[in-house]
Amino acid sequence: MKPARYSIFSLLRNAFGYHRHWSRAWRSPEPEDRYDAVIIGGGGHGLATAYYLASLHGITRVAVVEKGWLGGGNTGRNTTIVRSNYLLDANAHFYEHSLKLWEGLSSELNYNVMFSQRAVLNLTHNDAQVDAAHRRGNAMRLNGIDARWLSKDEVQAMVPLLDCSPCARFPVNGGLMQPRGGTARHDAVAWGFARAASAHGVDIIQNCEVVGIRTQSGSVLGVETTKGFIAAPKVGIAVAGHTSQVAAMAGIRLPIESHVLQAMVTEPVKPVLDTVVTSGATHVYISQTDKGEILIGGDLDFYNSYARRGNLPALEQVVQGAITHFPFLGRLRMMRTWGGVMDMTMDGSPIIGKLPIEGLYLNGGWCYGGFKATPGSGWCFAWTIANDEPHPLNAPFTLERFHRGTVLDEKGVGASPWLH
Ligand SMILES: Cc1cc2nc3c(=O)[nH]c(=O)nc-3n(C[C@H](O)[C@H](O)[C@H](O)COP(=O)(O)OP(=O)(O)OC[C@H]3O[C@@H](n4cnc5c(N)ncnc54)[C@H](O)[C@@H]3O)c2cc1C
Repeated sequence: MKPARYSIFSLLRNAFGYHRHWSRAWRSPEPEDRYDAVIIGGGGHGLATAYYLASLHGITRVAVVEKGWLGGGNTGRNTTIVRSNYLLDANAHFYEHSLKLWEGLSSELNYNVMFSQRAVLNLTHNDAQVDAAHRRGNAMRLNGIDARWLSKDEVQAMVPLLDCSPCARFPVNGGLMQPRGGTARHDAVAWGFARAASAHGVDIIQNCEVVGIRTQSGSVLGVETTKGFIAAPKVGIAVAGHTSQVAAMAGIRLPIESHVLQAMVTEPVKPVLDTVVTSGATHVYISQTDKGEILIGGDLDFYNSYARRGNLPALEQVVQGAITHFPFLGRLRMMRTWGGVMDMTMDGSPIIGKLPIEGLYLNGGWCYGGFKATPGSGWCFAWTIANDEPHPLNAPFTLERFHRGTVLDEKGVGASPWLH
């Protein structure tokens, strides 16, 4: 079943009818006793997984179980940067696969996810960063990924409000740009996947918390939830900031630490910034939202926490960095700040694969950067669940890498700054 298409007339009728008869975008059923697969977590990753399980693998008896509301986790809290500018082959191939899915996503889902390829520009401030940027850019091009080196003058022409003067606190001497990078509307991503998955028969069950994972003789039997037990031979975990807690329900301990990451928006202003700018020197990333707010993100609050709000010192540091690069920001009022819980793996790369319990799969440990992976991760996770083995794209990202010592420690991807 395809999601309904709305004509201009039906949009007008619904608008003037005060949305009273507007049909729901996805069904809201009570859970059945048994499914072929249960996905824990109704963020972008869980919903994308369910969508690809149904649409590509014909597994439609699927439930997505979400303790709150769809996209209320990190999917709805991030700074929405999408890119594939990675150095290591495994990362480059995985994130480029995701970026290609982004490029067709609105049409695939018949839902405008507002993917905007406004480019992502990583500033460089010293010779060492220039060397690293060239190396990264060359590696990207060898992997068929778009990358362009910009001189200081080109950076200044592209971002006129950036302080490129020689007396800037961190003088800019160039930048590495990925033209196909950009941003997307995070809520729309969750809603688009939810609507398309529901149309394929997936049951999306909100306000239903998984409180236990039932196993027997090394195999999964299903999940205990606040709405009762749901049986399933396959259970996928996609709970972002709560990965260690949910995996612990099956007795599994993961190499993950949880921290808060904050972001903030200023009051809205006229269009002044039409790209995404990041700096590894200040660990700040800045873009302008479609509403006109300047959206700013920074580094972690460096203590373990499950609280979804952070503290002032981290915000001050981010604001200082942002104003260093864009002095005009000092004249804007800060409108809102928020936080999300980041599951940081020890090598900064995610875990997508099987767990040591038959039928139990994990998608987690996204550190700072899982939004851009949403379609690619859902695609790979669905493949892994359907085939009971990882796809070659996510084979390097399994949990076993920590036992084998084949970690994917790309400098700056997770625990240190090259940025999101
Ligand atoms: C401030 C900030 C900025 C960021 N910026 C970027 C960026 O620019 N680019 C980028 O690529 N990434 C970014 N990220 C990271 C990105 O947001 C996440 O990696 C990604 O959204 C994770 O998606 P998800 O679907 O796995 O998680 P979520 O959207 O968090 O979904 C997980 C869901 O699981 C649910 N859940 C948890 N426990 C249970 C349970 N027991 N039972 C049922 N449900 C449960 C939660 O309620 C939640 O809705 C940022 C994150 C933050 C916080």
